[in-house]
Amino acid sequence: MSSTPDSLPPLREVIATYGLGARKSLGQNFLLDLNLTGRIARAAGDLAGCTVYEVGPGPGGLTRALLAEGASRVVAVERDERCLAALADVAAAFANRLEVIPADALEMDELALFGTSGLPVKVVANLPYNVGTALLIKWLRLPVWPPWWASLTLMFQREVALRLVARPSDPDYGRLSILTQWRARPRLLFDVSPKAFVPPPKVTSTIVSITPLDRPVAEAPLEALEQVTAAAFNQRRKMLRASLRSLGDPDTLLATAGIEPTARPEDLPVAAFCALARALAART
Ligand code: SAM
Repeated sequence: MSSTPDSLPPLREVIATYGLGARKSLGQNFLLDLNLTGRIARAAGDLAGCTVYEVGPGPGGLTRALLAEGASRVVAVERDERCLAALADVAAAFANRLEVIPADALEMDELALFGTSGLPVKVVANLPYNVGTALLIKWLRLPVWPPWWASLTLMFQREVALRLVARPSDPDYGRLSILTQWRARPRLLFDVSPKAFVPPPKVTSTIVSITPLDRPVAEAPLEALEQVTAAAFNQRRKMLRASLRSLGDPDTLLATAGIEPTARPEDLPVAAFCALARALAART
């Protein structure tokens, strides 16, 4: 059993030793290049004095980098029990600064997990593609803001990353852009080629950094904001007086929010959706 970071075997060997053949159903595309995992860990900024929350450590390539870059503590949630023995080796090599929780990250109550830790929590993850967007939405739609996390440094399919940062009138602008930009600042950091993964995915990936704003771009009740964006982008090219009809009396709603009935959802800034959400909440 390895007991220092330097004596951990190469990841290819770990995968062979523990029989960690990638499973598509778990969104498994592993990063084996420790230079790249180091770059991703450094993209999260100074990790000293931080707890890092990693979803899906798999064989532990990014996990090793996060620990080597100085994270005080890494809490990693992994659904695939085949990976636990390999991760136990990483924990032993890094003096037990790694805690592995065998669980589904979608079910985790992070506030209960980190609420009293006192250290800032940075989320860093090469997310499984099949649940990446659902996890991000879970971390964005919290009732309390600022959130339990200090930053998110996440790998997404490039197509999803572009939706997070899209501005009004961009083709990728939509519900996810608004939910993200309402209370946070997303930035694209760098692309990662499919060739960097085993097995290679079909598309390019992008590392994204998301930091919470102290306060939202404009006040809005979360549920109402989700209702108006869902209705509006259900028919994104229609004028708002048509697309908001499903919410009832769109003309009054638009007048209360001070928005032209002929405006189109794809052109409307985040603050305008907030005004619509406030108008909707005030009406019900
Ligand atoms: N971090 C590793 C790397 O960079 O090589 C693995 C990344 S792989 C894209 C995604 C990982 O998430 C896999 O290890 C998979 O088993 C795990 N996973 C998938 N769904 C999960 C879930 N709902 N909760 C926790 N982990 C999950």
